[in-house]
Amino acid sequence: MKLQSLRGFNDILPGETAVWQHVEQVARDTFAAYAYQEIRTPLLEQTALFKRAIGEVTDVVEKEMFSFDDREGLNLSLRPEGTASCVRAGLEHGLLHNQQQRLWYAGPMFRHERPQAGRYRQFHQLGAEAFGMPGPEIDVEVIALSARLLKRLGLRDLTLELNSLGSGDSRARYRAALTTFLEGHIDALDDDSKRRLVSNPLRVLDSKVPTTQAIVRDAPSLLDAMSAEDRAHLDGVQQGLSDLGIDYVMNPRIVRGLDYYSHTVFEWTTTELGAQGTVCAGGRYDGLVAQLGGQPSPAIGWASGIERLILLMKAQGLTLPDAAPDLVLCPADPDSARTLQRLAEQLRDDLPNARVQLSLGGKLKAQLSRAAKAGARFAVVMGEAERQDGKVHVKSFVHPEAADQTVAIDGLAVALAARLNLEG
Ligand code: ATP
Ligand code: MG
Repeated sequence: MKLQSLRGFNDILPGETAVWQHVEQVARDTFAAYAYQEIRTPLLEQTALFKRAIGEVTDVVEKEMFSFDDREGLNLSLRPEGTASCVRAGLEHGLLHNQQQRLWYAGPMFRHERPQAGRYRQFHQLGAEAFGMPGPEIDVEVIALSARLLKRLGLRDLTLELNSLGSGDSRARYRAALTTFLEGHIDALDDDSKRRLVSNPLRVLDSKVPTTQAIVRDAPSLLDAMSAEDRAHLDGVQQGLSDLGIDYVMNPRIVRGLDYYSHTVFEWTTTELGAQGTVCAGGRYDGLVAQLGGQPSPAIGWASGIERLILLMKAQGLTLPDAAPDLVLCPADPDSARTLQRLAEQLRDDLPNARVQLSLGGKLKAQLSRAAKAGARFAVVMGEAERQDGKVHVKSFVHPEAADQTVAIDGLAVALAARLNLEG
């Protein structure tokens, strides 16, 4: 048997990690700009957590989880999303009751979906969650945070789609109206949707089956069934977004794939990634904390797929930060290699931000062409004669026409610091 990675599980190879680190760094900085704190939860949880949080009659729980019995016969699942675990951890450690929390997380999630561009079985999400704040201001804040992250990544032409799922009575009234409407089209619905019409009719709005989508287009809108209170919350969110100059469009068909949402839901979408056009999605989930056994606490959050962010950055031609070495130290003989290894350590002390590599193996000419190919900015060359003199040659790949500079080892860090800034 040939050993290879599982379908939908990707290696992130060295040529890719620079852009991943960049996205993660921009995300960390953006969360910090809003004073959100990181939380890290396990990848494996009891299956019961996700069933109770996400809803039994959702695609994620019905079809997409990686679940198995462990050696003690406990049913476990790889986490398909981050919110359920955040709430579980918050309850377990007493972080939610009568408190406000602003949290973020990042890491792999697992869903057994059909792999395609922008859809994988192991994928990575960045997410924000805010607990304990009922008013529309925090909805506006988490959306503004997502907007700023997308902007700092340089992404353009994204649309913010907004909806409200209402709550309580208005939700129940809408459910009744929607059921009546769908019953009128029951013969044309796909089998999953027929089943959900009984168990969970709002899910039919989220169907990916084209014939069902066509029917749903004419369905009554939840926005028309909202109570005055729900309406006021949505008005507050719309007003707040306008105050911050964040454009949005209302889309009454957004229900999201997870059952825990109420009130505000939103998606950031692009037309540049085909069917996988949602790069960030979230909403309010005021009922979830109580549903998982805690005292009720209002909450809102979102999650963004890192793979889709990177696909979109590439589609938009965004240039990526450079991970190539700044300096490659090239020894012409074994004794010079020993000297340059010591020198490399010294340079890492003196120039902590420089990427310094010791070239190993091959004749000097081969080493230099390998360094040039790797995108290095400078080579530092030492042969026997230089070693005797306590000197090196500095060769620029940025300006290959420039003459090599001969520098005493003692003055190398200072000379390089100047050149790295000058030719950077
Ligand atoms: P979709 O409608 O694309 O299946 P979803 O409604 O299942 O998305 P969420 O559960 O809200 O998505 O997850 C938030 C974000 O995580 C998505 O907007 C997307 O960017 C990303 N995401 C979700 N599933 C996958 C996947 N299988 N592969 C890659 N990214 C994903
Ligand atoms: Mg999905």
